[in-house]
Amino acid sequence: MTSCAECGARLGPGETCTDLFNRMLAVEWAMIGRLGGGIAPEAFLATAAGSIGTRAHFFAVGSYQLQHPEGLTAAALTGLLLGIGDVLAGRRGVTDIRLDARRAFNGPQRVRRGRGEGRDPALGKWPSAWPLTVADCCDVDPDDYADAVRRLAEATVAAIDAVRPGAPSPPQSPRRGTPQPGADRKRR
Ligand SMILES: [Zn+2]
Repeated sequence: MTSCAECGARLGPGETCTDLFNRMLAVEWAMIGRLGGGIAPEAFLATAAGSIGTRAHFFAVGSYQLQHPEGLTAAALTGLLLGIGDVLAGRRGVTDIRLDARRAFNGPQRVRRGRGEGRDPALGKWPSAWPLTVADCCDVDPDDYADAVRRLAEATVAAIDAVRPGAPSPPQSPRRGTPQPGADRKRR
C-alpha cells in the first residue's frame, strides 16, 4: 500500500491519486444523474436544483487542487482558498467566484507553474497532512456525495488556516481583508 506524495491518500496497487480523483468525479456524475432524473446533465446543471451539483463540483475539484499544490501558483491557490471559504460560508456563489478568477487570471498572472517546479516558494506554510482526502469521497453513495465533498472542503480550508499565520478572517467581517477584488473592479 502506497500513499500520494502530495495529499497522503492511501493508494491501492498500481493506483494513482488521479485515479481516485476520477473515481470521485464518477460518483459526482452519478449524483447528478439521480438528482436530474431524465434531464440531460448539462441542462440540469443550469437549473436551480443543479446548483447543488455545481457547488459539489467546486468543492471536489477545489479541495483536490488545494491538497495538490505542486504546479499551481501561490496566487491561484490563495484565490481558490478564499473562494471556497466564501462559498462554504454562503457569502458568495460559485458562478461569481469563477468570473472573478477568470478576470484575475486572464492577464499576465499565471495559474500553472512549469512541470517539475515543485511548490511555489511564495506559497509559504501549507499542510502536508489532511484530515480528509479525495479517498474519503470516491466510495460514497451518490446520495451522500454533496455532503462528503462539503466536509472535504471544510476540512481542507481548516487545515490550511491552521498553519497559516493571519488566517482566517473573522466570519462577522464584511470584508476578507484583501482589497484587491474591489480595487480591481473599480479599475475596469
Ligand atoms: Zn493525492
